[in-house]
Amino acid sequence: MAELYPWQVPLWQQLAGRRQHAHAYLLQGPAGIGKRILAESLMAHLLCSARSGLDACGQCKSCQLLAAGTHPDSFVLEPEEADKPIKIDQVRELVDFVVQTAQLGGRKVVLLEPAEAMNLNAANALLKSLEEPSGDTVLLLISHQPSRLLPTIRSRCVQQSCPLPGEEQSLSWLAQTLPELSEEGRTELLTLASGSPLAAQRLHEQGVREQRAQVVDGVKKLLKQQVAPSQLAESWNALPLNLLFDWFCEWAQLILRYQLTHDESGLGLTDMRKVVQYLADKTPQPRVLAIQEWLLGQRQKVLGKANLNRVLLLEALLVQWASLPGPG
Ligand SMILES: [Zn+2]
Repeated sequence: MAELYPWQVPLWQQLAGRRQHAHAYLLQGPAGIGKRILAESLMAHLLCSARSGLDACGQCKSCQLLAAGTHPDSFVLEPEEADKPIKIDQVRELVDFVVQTAQLGGRKVVLLEPAEAMNLNAANALLKSLEEPSGDTVLLLISHQPSRLLPTIRSRCVQQSCPLPGEEQSLSWLAQTLPELSEEGRTELLTLASGSPLAAQRLHEQGVREQRAQVVDGVKKLLKQQVAPSQLAESWNALPLNLLFDWFCEWAQLILRYQLTHDESGLGLTDMRKVVQYLADKTPQPRVLAIQEWLLGQRQKVLGKANLNRVLLLEALLVQWASLPGPG
């Protein structure tokens, strides 16, 4: 079984150490901090028949079946395709599972992730299982965005917040995980991942720092008119659109903030500080507000996976960005 992350140990002791278990838990917190591993560990803990201490033994029949993915009393429910909704038929299967008797004579455990992927019908179907819990079943719900859940779902679970680990703890974990990076590189990565250490690791695997360097270099050339918007848009063909929009949204926000505060400590990562400062000095504020509004609108479409012509979209972005500085 995968090991817990160091920042989860206190939470684990609190959860697994409970004298009596609730019928349903809601593990909630930002993505990229290991909620799934916590839930899987709890599932193993609840199913193990030879536990000593908090951790599952790893040896008993239950542990072996779970490791093989064939435990008859465990049920994992997630979208059939990533980022797609959980279907009502899937929840109906779960409801059937909950009313059955445990085949190994112990508990039954359900893991559902992410809970916000249930639409209203699916959520209502699940509510029945939450309202009339079957004695030996524990439901583990994971949510990255608990505000999107029905209040009735939330209120029927023991809500367990899983906060972001502190920066120091995240950096020390990253130092062990990515020793090949410099300390500055790891700090930058963690900032790019909004403080989430696992997201930072994933971004690193995707080559995010190289991608960022490519984008920053392109933006600088664009402002010096060394490259045309259309050319730059083409050259960014392999870059993830959501990252690009995240970065441009952030830069627009930093420009505005600097215009309002002139606080040099609020200029963001070093790679764009001078550019942000330059654009803040040269761009009339209404123009920054306009591009920010446009960026936020487009970002919603990107996140919603709307069918977009990415080269045209990027070109539109870059044409506007290139014309930021100048007289109002
Ligand atoms: Zn065991």
